[in-house]
Amino acid sequence: LVNEQRIVIIGCGAGGGTAAQLARKTDRNAKITILEMSKYAQYSKCGLPYVISEKIKKFENLIEFSKEWFEKEKINLYLNTEVTEVNIKEKKITFKKDNKLEYTEFDKLILATGAESNIPPIKNIQINNKLTQGVYCLRTLEEGKILYSALKNVKKVVIIGAGLIGLETADVLYQKGLNVTIVEALPNILENTLDSDMSNSILNEIESKINVYTNHFATEIELKNEKIENIHIKNNETNKEFKIETDLIVVATGSKPDVTIAEKIGCKIGKKGGITVNEKSETSVKDVYAAGDCTEYKDFITKQSTLIGLGSIAVRQGIAAGINAAGGNYALHEGLLQTRTSEFFGYEVAAVGPVKKEISNFPIVYGKFSGSSLISYFPGGKPIVMKIGVNENTGEIISAQSVGANAALRINVFACAIQNKVHVEDMRKMETAYAPPIAPTLDAITLVCDVAYLKYSRKNR
Ligand SMILES: Cc1cc2nc3c(=O)[nH]c(=O)nc-3n(C[C@H](O)[C@H](O)[C@H](O)COP(=O)(O)OP(=O)(O)OC[C@H]3O[C@@H](n4cnc5c(N)ncnc54)[C@H](O)[C@@H]3O)c2cc1C
Repeated sequence: LVNEQRIVIIGCGAGGGTAAQLARKTDRNAKITILEMSKYAQYSKCGLPYVISEKIKKFENLIEFSKEWFEKEKINLYLNTEVTEVNIKEKKITFKKDNKLEYTEFDKLILATGAESNIPPIKNIQINNKLTQGVYCLRTLEEGKILYSALKNVKKVVIIGAGLIGLETADVLYQKGLNVTIVEALPNILENTLDSDMSNSILNEIESKINVYTNHFATEIELKNEKIENIHIKNNETNKEFKIETDLIVVATGSKPDVTIAEKIGCKIGKKGGITVNEKSETSVKDVYAAGDCTEYKDFITKQSTLIGLGSIAVRQGIAAGINAAGGNYALHEGLLQTRTSEFFGYEVAAVGPVKKEISNFPIVYGKFSGSSLISYFPGGKPIVMKIGVNENTGEIISAQSVGANAALRINVFACAIQNKVHVEDMRKMETAYAPPIAPTLDAITLVCDVAYLKYSRKNR
């Protein structure tokens, strides 16, 4: 007789969908069920800006794994199904489908409930707990559709937040011919990805295309006949307040983990508000795993617990949760590198490891290099700027940032170096590939290490 273990997954995003796939690969007989409250199977949130720009034709094209796909893998995916309660003692789940309450039981539970958009405290941003008409978020496929149709007949747009998603959205709306303004409360754009000396060149360039107000806080949305007319913003230093005329506002101020169910069943919630998980995606409650944006896990360099906000990490945690829930044994590396990338206004941007402000009390030397993606005589070379951080005492590389051609690929090389605690002296001697149309004899990867090494060796003379 086959003993079928029952694995239930709440949420079919990058974390939950991946967990289901890996659970199935690990145990061919398990009864695997995903309960998803939206009407869509696993889709890519990361692709949403590119449907708005019409590079991708339809929102539905973002669905990477359909209901049929899951069915073929013998995974039961229930859509439009909201989990309302979990009885952890009896291992019983209550969910609402077609306005009816139903139940299911589990042996292992995976929480992959994701996160929701963070809404900053701005006067009139919400009315009766709902976003005011004309104010939009871009996190779900449904929200993407709503924003896309709202853009018709719009000329002026304000985006609140100059992180990766804010800038991707700004670029897309600029390409559509709209007058775009970004308002950012922090002193610089991309504060969580680049140090200010790296982001400044981007800022100077994009300011010729859109209006950017850093160090400004949005305070109030002014409505006339229930229609948005202006947004009030305040300079953080001078307190000077003024208004900007706008037809539409996009809120891109990050997200907060959805831990409603986790909290109710007693999972430990970390300082940052996410479900605390270990390298096996285990929570503090036996037989309950968690993956993706609803969790927090420690950073490889700072050792501090950090919220997950990247699809790349949600997928990797989903792999661990799925394999382990199904009886396998899989552990992620000790800590997150947070390897991240994006592209906007013609800039490719990538980084790995903490930005300077997060590790201001660490002993670090930095090296920076500006050069070209190709050897000087070959036409078509593109500018590259790279910066790395090196532990002043040990010589280990701990962070890297890159702006320019193939930024993500170069940063992936540094991800490998950081994970393996490579010394900057070894890295500067690394043999990189060279051919005139592809890469220079000495790549920015090793040249930036030369600069950092000189500083490191001066300190350790
Ligand atoms: C515009 C945009 C661009 C992005 N670009 C990138 C990028 O380029 N690279 C990158 O690495 N990351 C990117 N991200 C982040 C990435 O999309 C997320 O990290 C990832 O989607 C998180 O996956 P998840 O499975 O944890 O959560 P989600 O995708 O949020 O999935 C959670 C699911 O759980 C469901 N759920 C919640 N509660 C319940 C319940 N009670 N019952 C049933 N179902 C429930 C929700 O409906 C949801 O579908 C981007 C995000 C956005 C919004």
